[in-house]
Amino acid sequence: MSEQPHDEDCIFCRIVDEEIPARTIHEGPETLAILDANPLAPGHTLVIPRGHYETIQGVPDGARAAVFDALGRLVGPIERATGADGSTVGFNNGAAAGQEVPHVHGHIIPRFDDDGGGPIHDVIASPVSLTETELDDIAARIVDAVDA
Ligand code: AMP
Ligand code: ZN
Repeated sequence: MSEQPHDEDCIFCRIVDEEIPARTIHEGPETLAILDANPLAPGHTLVIPRGHYETIQGVPDGARAAVFDALGRLVGPIERATGADGSTVGFNNGAAAGQEVPHVHGHIIPRFDDDGGGPIHDVIASPVSLTETELDDIAARIVDAVDA
């Protein structure tokens, strides 16, 4: 594997380098999974690529696949170990989305029937209401951007 991008001021790079401690629950050649230090629920886990990439769109193919692979492998054991009824799995991607640590990390948050939490749809307090034409337009613009 080629040398990974690294930021010596990044807290997750420092955890990857074992300069600061973390509760590691899984290690792969391209990923590390640790317990969140300020969990929203017991078993709240972060899956981190070993390389320093700020947002999902900056992660190269191999590491991107490895992050999703780790998320998929870990959700079941985390739910079993915590007795969870489900999980919310997601990324705060960019500061506007609430990302505080600028090193990509996927959250696995165990969910319980009575935990009082909401779905991902609750992250926007005032959802937009778009017309069919507006939906067609944004879909076309995204398709163009993918092809560009
Ligand atoms: P985000 O808002 O998506 O950037 O989330 C950052 C997460 O990292 C938060 O849930 C923090 O509790 C967690 N966090 C920050 N520092 C540490 C650390 N040293 N060890 C484990 N988790 C951390
Ligand atoms: Zn980093």
